Amino acid sequence: MPPPSASSPRPHRPGWPPSPGRSAPSGWRPARTLGGGYGLLNGRFGLAADNLLGADLVLADGQPVSVDDDHEPELFWAIRGGGNFGVVTSMRIWLHAVGRVLAGMIGYPLGQAAIVLEQLDEIIAAATDELTVQAVILTGPDGTPGVFLVPAWSGDLTAGEPHIERLQRLGTPVFTQVGPMAFSDLLHMNDARARSRAGTSPPARCRVPHYSPAVIDALIDAAQTLSSPFSGVAVHNFHGAAARVPVESTAFGIRQPHLITEIIGWWEPGDAAPHEAWADKTFQALAPEALPGGYPNMLGPAAHRRSPAPTAPTPPGSWPPRHASIPTAFSPPYRCQLRRRLRTAGRRHVTS
Ligand SMILES: Cc1cc2nc3c(=O)[nH]c(=O)nc-3n(C[C@H](O)[C@H](O)[C@H](O)COP(=O)(O)OP(=O)(O)OC[C@H]3O[C@@H](n4cnc5c(N)ncnc54)[C@H](O)[C@@H]3O)c2cc1C
Repeated sequence: MPPPSASSPRPHRPGWPPSPGRSAPSGWRPARTLGGGYGLLNGRFGLAADNLLGADLVLADGQPVSVDDDHEPELFWAIRGGGNFGVVTSMRIWLHAVGRVLAGMIGYPLGQAAIVLEQLDEIIAAATDELTVQAVILTGPDGTPGVFLVPAWSGDLTAGEPHIERLQRLGTPVFTQVGPMAFSDLLHMNDARARSRAGTSPPARCRVPHYSPAVIDALIDAAQTLSSPFSGVAVHNFHGAAARVPVESTAFGIRQPHLITEIIGWWEPGDAAPHEAWADKTFQALAPEALPGGYPNMLGPAAHRRSPAPTAPTPPGSWPPRHASIPTAFSPPYRCQLRRRLRTAGRRHVTS
């Protein structure tokens, strides 16, 4: 089976971001794209799934199918944010010219986390599409926990400097390493940290509207109680172009600006229980603030039946009830068979 491949862009789709060039917007790994795909360019170009132009799949009964706007449009709708409805063998991806971005990392000590995150809340609420800022709670190079901002400015580099300087003045940083770089280098910035992990737990998800006082308290508590120096919480910033895609046009459930808190437990070989307890405690602390529904890509094995659709009350900018109308041919019976077949083939589970 050939690996998923990217191909040339096609003309601009009205109401969606333009596609002038040749760079992948936010990574195109298949399952990540099918579930949505948050990334540091979502303010400018939308989610990974928003840049999917078409795909070839093999359904659970072995039937190959090609989907795009004109072929099996319901299945095409479903695989843009709804998760896994077959084995994707190729994808056609909308490419963008990005050039160099102004990006990197700004580290603040944990004692300044509250004031930093309060100001960050105001900054991202007013940010233009070019600026997306991730905040990460983790153990810094000096062995103490802190809050680390990961900005990505994808517009004119000179115009971005005041925005970066403001992010560097939210407190007294312990370090700041921001400069022009290729977007691909930004994506690989944390590879060494990821490789250093010895144990792992699936990331738990929780989408919250913004950095409210309760969210900030939960993040600070998570930092103060980290069960391992490898664990952390990454907070992704969803806004701009991603939030302007009409909610009914894809299966991705929430289009209002929000944050997704990705709670990642990593640890050395040994007892997993304290680390899983930390991840669960952090998830529970954030849950009262959470928007309804779940992000298919961040549901653990025990939660993979959870619907990505919100439950009532439905907030503005979230999923209408169309998910109920995905044709039967592509619905649960097929997905169950697919899970069984992939399990037989040695795969853990199918994200759904
Ligand atoms: C440390 C960490 C950081 C993350 N950061 C982000 C982030 O920044 N933004 C974000 O949106 N998400 C993030 N995620 C979640 C990520 O989107 C999901 O883990 C996603 O499922 C990974 O996709 P993948 O393509 O690598 O699939 P895999 O991890 O290889 O597989 C995931 C599931 O998809 C199935 N699958 C794999 N290939 C295919 C295919 N070709 N067709 C059909 N099904 C397939 C597999 O069987 C499996 O069930 C992160 C996860 C981790 C662990």
